[in-house]
Amino acid sequence: MTGHILIVEDEDKIAAILRDYLAREGYAAHRLRRGDEVLPWLRENPADLVLLDLMLPGLSGLEICRALRKPGSASSAAIIITTARVEEVDRLLGLELGADDYICKPFSPREVVARVKAVLRRTRPPAAQEEMASASGLMLVPSRWQAAWRGRDLGLTAIEFRLLKQLADQPGQIFSRDQLMDAMHGGDRIVSDRTVDSHIKKIRRKIAEVAPGVELIRSMYGVGYKYEPRGTEAM
Ligand code: CA
Repeated sequence: MTGHILIVEDEDKIAAILRDYLAREGYAAHRLRRGDEVLPWLRENPADLVLLDLMLPGLSGLEICRALRKPGSASSAAIIITTARVEEVDRLLGLELGADDYICKPFSPREVVARVKAVLRRTRPPAAQEEMASASGLMLVPSRWQAAWRGRDLGLTAIEFRLLKQLADQPGQIFSRDQLMDAMHGGDRIVSDRTVDSHIKKIRRKIAEVAPGVELIRSMYGVGYKYEPRGTEAM
């Protein structure tokens, strides 16, 4: 596997061809048809790069681009805009909004694959550089939302990863549910703060599965949570 690509394209034929070519090159490609599906999907799924059509039902590609490049957005995926609109103004606006490249339709799928490779080479740091051990034993890889304890993958969802990373980045510091909610959702809240508790519960269960007896997150009654490894294996 060489990367996760999200194809946002409302035309079935184009989407199918892109998916086919990317899969042949070893990419995991997922396709969404509507613009308004993109941000919710990226909150839950990893993507290294988004192939983004501009004219989409629900939400336009330029609006998606703008939302993705806001600080604290759902994803830091690279963006290649694909569109039949050839106006210079759209091209410039897309790049101004933070797109990494631009491809005009009609395009050859081979050209798209070549651009995808080039953009990923440019934008994706080698995993080794990016891995961060935030405390003894815990390894976090932000671009893949991967968390491992002593080499054993915890299998966290994107939201669980953001929650654990927020805590582990500052061991010992107490975070309120409010602060953790912001870390989880990048400011746009749609859920109650009880969901913090349920995500913490799931993270704890996943840690217990790979490292019985180890606790990483401590509840501070009435205040919030903090990262504090405990247990025999954690010492
Ligand atoms: Ca379209």
